[in-house]
Amino acid sequence: MSETGSTKRFRPETKLVHSGALRSQFGETSEALFLTQGFIYDSAEQCEARFKGEDPGFLYSRFSNPNISMFERRMIELEGAEAARATATGMAAVTTAILAPLKAGDHVVAAKAMFGSCRYVVEDLLPRYGIQSTLVDGLDLDQWKRAMQPNTKTCFLESPTNPTLDVLDIQSIAEIAHKGGARLIVDNVFATPIWQSPLSLGADVVIYSATKHIDGQGRCLGGIILSSEAFIAEHIHNFMRQTGPSMSPFNAWVLLKGLETLGVRVRAQTETAAKVANALASHPKISRLIYPGRADHPQAALVKKQMRAGSTLIGFEVKGGKAAAFRCLNALQISRISNNLGDAKSLVTHPATTTHQRLTPEARAELGISEGFIRFSAGLEHADDLIEDFAQALEKA
Ligand SMILES: *Cc1c(COP(=O)(O)O)cnc(C)c1O
Repeated sequence: MSETGSTKRFRPETKLVHSGALRSQFGETSEALFLTQGFIYDSAEQCEARFKGEDPGFLYSRFSNPNISMFERRMIELEGAEAARATATGMAAVTTAILAPLKAGDHVVAAKAMFGSCRYVVEDLLPRYGIQSTLVDGLDLDQWKRAMQPNTKTCFLESPTNPTLDVLDIQSIAEIAHKGGARLIVDNVFATPIWQSPLSLGADVVIYSATKHIDGQGRCLGGIILSSEAFIAEHIHNFMRQTGPSMSPFNAWVLLKGLETLGVRVRAQTETAAKVANALASHPKISRLIYPGRADHPQAALVKKQMRAGSTLIGFEVKGGKAAAFRCLNALQISRISNNLGDAKSLVTHPATTTHQRLTPEARAELGISEGFIRFSAGLEHADDLIEDFAQALEKA
C-alpha cells in the first residue's frame, strides 16, 4: 500500500478529497474497499512483532482496517486533531468519549439542551455507575461555573443545540472547564466540520455522528472521536479494542466517499436553509423562527465569532400547536417526515413527539420545544421548490 503524504498545508476542500488515501499495488483512483475481518502475516515472527506493536500493519478489523484508517486520517486532517477513532454510530462515539475516561466518584457537567440519547447517557446511564452529572442551561456561563466540583472531569455540550439551535460559547466554556481541571467534549454534528472547529476554540475532544452530513445520503451509521494523541492513547484506544464499538469497514468506505462531497453539499444546504429561513421568518402562520445565520438569532454575535456560516437546519414554531404542526408536516410534498438530518433529501421532524418525547412536558418547555415546533434539515433540492412546498403546507396548517 502506498500512502498519501501529509496534506496539512492544504485547505479543507482539498483535504476532503485527498487526505488519508491509501493505494494498493493496482493504483486505483477511487479508494478500494477492504471488506475483511482479519489480516494474514508472512511469518509467525511478523505476527508476533505486530501484536507487540513493533511492526506497523493491521491485525483485526475491530482494532483497525485500511478503510477505517483512511476515514480517520481524512477527518484528523480536516479537523486539525492529532488522533481519532471511528465508531459504529454517533452514540458509540458519545458514550465512549464520555464513559471511557471516567470512574465511579467522578462528575460531569453538561448543557441540558442536547440530542435525546446523549441526555440519556449523561442523566440516566452515568449515575448507575456512580458518576454523577449536573445539567445546566448551556447559555448561562454562571451556571457552568457554579456546577463545577473538585471531582468534575468532563464537560459536555453540543452547539448549535438540537433542536432549538441555541449557540453556546465554546471558548468561554472550555476556559471554565480547564480552570476546574476538566476536559470539554463538543458534539459538533449540527455545526459540521465545515462551519465550526471546536478544537481551535479550546475544546479537548470533538465527536461526530457521521450518520448525518458526513454520509449525507442516508445510507450508513457511523461516528468518530477526535482529540489529542494523549487522550486517545490513555482513554480510548484500549476501551475501543476490548469493548468493540468499532466502525464497519464498509461503512468507513461509504463515509470516506461522503467526505469528498461534504464541502459542496454543506455549502449548498446552508444556502438553501438561509433562503427558506428568510422566506418563512415573517409568515403569518409562524410565531417564531430560529436560524443561526440570521441577524435576529438570539446569539447572532457569537455565531459570527465561532462559526464560519449559519447552519443547514432551521427551527420554527407553527401557530396552533401540535394539530397545526402535524397538518403542515402531512401536507408537505418534498420535505419528508424523518428524525434524521443532514441528508440530500430535505427532512422535517416534530421533536416533541419524536426525539424529545422521552422528556416531561416541563423539561421540553424549559428547552423551548413547544407542541408547534418543527425542525427542518435542508437537502439539495432547489430552494424555490422547498419554499413553494412550505407555502402550500402552511396554508393547510
Ligand atoms: C444523530 C446525533 C447523534 C447520534 O448519532 P447516531 O449516529 O444516530 O448514533 C448524536 N448527537 C447529535 C447532535 C446527533 O444529531
